[in-house]
Amino acid sequence: MTPLIQELAKTELLQNVPDELLRQVMAHASPIELNPGELLLSPNLDNHHIYLLLSGTLTVHFNSPDAPVIRELCQGYSVGEMSIIDDTTPSAYVKAKEHCRVFPVHRDFLLDLIQNTHPIAFNLLRILTKRMKVNTQKIINDQLQILELTNQANIDGLTGLYNRRWLDNALPRILTQMDKIAQPLCILIIDVDHFKKYNDLHGHQGGDIALISMGNVLRTNIRPYDFASRIGGEEFMVLLPNTNLADGFTLAERIRQETENQLIANPDGILLSGIAVSIGLAVSDENATGNSLFAAADKQLYLAKQSGRNCVKY
Ligand code: GH3
Ligand code: MG
Ligand code: MG
Repeated sequence: MTPLIQELAKTELLQNVPDELLRQVMAHASPIELNPGELLLSPNLDNHHIYLLLSGTLTVHFNSPDAPVIRELCQGYSVGEMSIIDDTTPSAYVKAKEHCRVFPVHRDFLLDLIQNTHPIAFNLLRILTKRMKVNTQKIINDQLQILELTNQANIDGLTGLYNRRWLDNALPRILTQMDKIAQPLCILIIDVDHFKKYNDLHGHQGGDIALISMGNVLRTNIRPYDFASRIGGEEFMVLLPNTNLADGFTLAERIRQETENQLIANPDGILLSGIAVSIGLAVSDENATGNSLFAAADKQLYLAKQSGRNCVKY
């Protein structure tokens, strides 16, 4: 056996293939040398070969050959098999990371081989399955990462509730959903009373502790399908899908009372003063928009402040 035949026998595509066939493969082409950085496959170029990597490392890139490396391929791997099977241009750029030797197998020759030899057909199937698994895993990882980033961008760092950015997106969306099923959306704007004084008394850090406990009151008093967000300094909004005025009021009252009753302590366990909230409530009708609903609740909040605070208005 010549060294080339040994090299070919070690590739994924030609493992377990009889020597006689390996010689046929060897006779139909010669290895190609690639210099570092040289492009082997590109989405801009038709590809008619599957390339068996005899030595060196190839890198795979999406979008451009200079984009980050998606995968590294080492000796024995093959590239180009996807475009051979579905007869299209490659989906990615493949270039030599270092000096490489690849062995080209022409598409027509390969298809002949596949038809006549079970081991090659089986190997190719295994290569394609493996490639699909790697790609699927990559897609899943990317999506998880995007989801995590999106979540982080939508969460208020202090309270862990949704933030204003989330609300601006979610409010019109939830309103449309409620419209479709002809159910009302009830919203509460909650503003901590005399919070400036609270900060003056306990310092900004004390104020932050009170806001965190406010977040906990909201989280523990809403239902699983409600949403609580912090929309600004000491202002919060709760969205209550599928909720009429009477039920919305009951929940708002519960939040108001729980806020008033909760004990607020600093990390050393020393009790700070309690807080109270004023709440403005509004319920959607068929003409409501996110803005009109927001404005209606804000107007009620103003009235709640006017009538002495620590109360719910609708
Ligand atoms: P009102 O009862 O009319 O709502 O009075 P208020 O003092 O609560 O309202 P005002 O809007 O005058 O003051 C809000 C205060 O909230 C002022 C600001 O220092 C404080 N604040 C806003 N964001 C934060 C925050 O993230 N942390 C802390 N500790 N305080 C904040
Ligand atoms: Mg305010
Ligand atoms: Mg306030």
